[in-house]
Amino acid sequence: GGGYLDPDTVVCPRSYEIAQVGAGAVADAVQRVVGGKAQQAFCLIRPPGHHALADTAMGFCLLNNVAVGARLAIDELGLDRVLIVDWDVHHGNGTQDVFYADPNVLYVSFHEWPLYPGTGRHDEVGSGPGEGTTLNVPLPAGATGEHYLAALDRVVAPVVAAFDPHWVLVSAGFDAHRADPLTGLALSAGDYPLITERVLALAPPGRAVVFLEGGYDLDALRDSVAATLPVLVGERPGRVAEAPTSGGPGGRMVEVVEEDED
Ligand code: ZN
Repeated sequence: GGGYLDPDTVVCPRSYEIAQVGAGAVADAVQRVVGGKAQQAFCLIRPPGHHALADTAMGFCLLNNVAVGARLAIDELGLDRVLIVDWDVHHGNGTQDVFYADPNVLYVSFHEWPLYPGTGRHDEVGSGPGEGTTLNVPLPAGATGEHYLAALDRVVAPVVAAFDPHWVLVSAGFDAHRADPLTGLALSAGDYPLITERVLALAPPGRAVVFLEGGYDLDALRDSVAATLPVLVGERPGRVAEAPTSGGPGGRMVEVVEEDED
């Protein structure tokens, strides 16, 4: 009959059916792209998924779409070494939790810190056989596209190269946009094509499937998705609504890099 599953997560009578359709779209996209029947997919689905735990809805999310996609790719399509990149402004605690001890999935998350749901410290790195296959990049409020690109080049790329992924699945939230009403990062629509180019380059060409996560300013969401789509099909971005961003707080990521180098 609907109601609140937690203080953030409200459902209507059809929400579960809609969540199943979204997760089903993910499964369909992964099967088609991995199976060579399609070259690229961007699943424009709601609700988002990356906060959902294996058995619990959380934070607007009912079913963890990207986890469904990764699990399907590994268990039924025979892939190993799947990279998940999550550039939603929130930490994907559900995705991290599902694969925390799994050495076949490298989970990389960029997120504002501190922010909901409170997980995603840089020292959360995985456990047991999955130790080293979780990489968190917490960023302070005000961080810009320049920070995302620097983190991709200096922190993420070396770890991903060592993991040598066969495929990349992307949790593409657009709530790090400066207009987003829920969050404090300072990206523009023009940052997302640059981030997308770098993320696609982390896996062999043509081996990416992208899923929509958050994004709560509808104009920013429209402009950001429109700026991202051409890159996914191998084109340079067309007319992008906003220029890429730079500047903002600079100290924190440098500290993390230096700790890792020690
Ligand atoms: Zn989010």
